[in-house]
Amino acid sequence: MRSSDASLQPKALPTAPNWRQSLNEAVRSASELLAILDIDPADLGWFQPVKDEFPLLVPKAFISRMQPGNTNDPLLRQILPMTEEQNEHPEFITDPLGELALANDGVMQKYPGRALIVTTAACPIHCRYCFRRHFPYEAQTASRGNWSVALAELRKRPAISEVILSGGDPLSLSNRRLQELVSELERFSSITTLRIHSRFPIILPTRIDQDLLDILRESSLKTVLVVHSNHANEIDESVRSAMKQVHATGTLILNQSVLLRGINDDITSLEALSHSLFDASIVPYYLHQLDHVAGAMHFKVRDATALELLAGLRQRLPGYLVPRLVQEIPGELSKTPLHESLR
Ligand SMILES: *Cc1c(COP(=O)(O)O)cnc(C)c1O
Ligand code: SF4
Repeated sequence: MRSSDASLQPKALPTAPNWRQSLNEAVRSASELLAILDIDPADLGWFQPVKDEFPLLVPKAFISRMQPGNTNDPLLRQILPMTEEQNEHPEFITDPLGELALANDGVMQKYPGRALIVTTAACPIHCRYCFRRHFPYEAQTASRGNWSVALAELRKRPAISEVILSGGDPLSLSNRRLQELVSELERFSSITTLRIHSRFPIILPTRIDQDLLDILRESSLKTVLVVHSNHANEIDESVRSAMKQVHATGTLILNQSVLLRGINDDITSLEALSHSLFDASIVPYYLHQLDHVAGAMHFKVRDATALELLAGLRQRLPGYLVPRLVQEIPGELSKTPLHESLR
């Protein structure tokens, strides 16, 4: 890390106004990323993944929120492939949540009343700790041809009242494709709620365009947007103003985070994250204890530490800003509060 504080000011990088163009211009090379951030590549142990190894992907709009010269930047550490990823451990596996056995033509149901559609493989960014980083999207994406197979699957399950659009990131789809899918879902009398799980609003808030706002505002379904942010530095004015517009459509906005070693596993970072989310009209929802996915072992925070952090948050924050600390256990009928998973 540089000694002068002035060098830690984020850099204003030119970013495209259009989200598709921003994705085209996203950085895909670790050495290019480190050059932009004025970090000497010899100062940390990184590697450049080959194509089928979950490649580096990060848009410049997100890089501009990183601190130049800071090898420990919490945003950089989420996306830079570190050599530690290559450590293997028998408990860290490619399908940690047993999802392969569950996905059926892109529809995945683990819990009563709600099901998830894997709409696309594409994401605006590649997060190194992603629990679906090895997911075989080619075979399990509802969008391969059209929506009809996934919709037929949903028709067989009339007890489902909430459909979650997931991926990948569902906001990688065009507004036209999204509108098609939402219109189809609105025709089910059993479905009352549409939920979108997306990291776009944080990574590339330009994705929140007028047509998307109209889809949310005009849907006859109740709408919920669950974003994904792990650190207060991710949330800047561009995120706040996009979220304000989503909020104005009547959509409930929640956040899920992953507890990550060296990134947000301290009380100050977690407290600041909750406040920044609230400033952006977002309510903290889940704080996930890491899923044991191969390549992510170095992000794992001890359970005892996680529980202490949560106790600290409870003392510092109003109840509505304290996230639920959960571990996903395959086969359970909901996410499990961490303290219960340890009994
Ligand atoms: C996490 C998850 C949900 C949502 O669970 P909530 O507790 O309602 O947020 C739904 N379906 C699947 C497959 C999930 O993994
Ligand atoms: S945006 Fe979500 S699905 Fe995509 S790589 Fe990151 S954690 Fe995984």
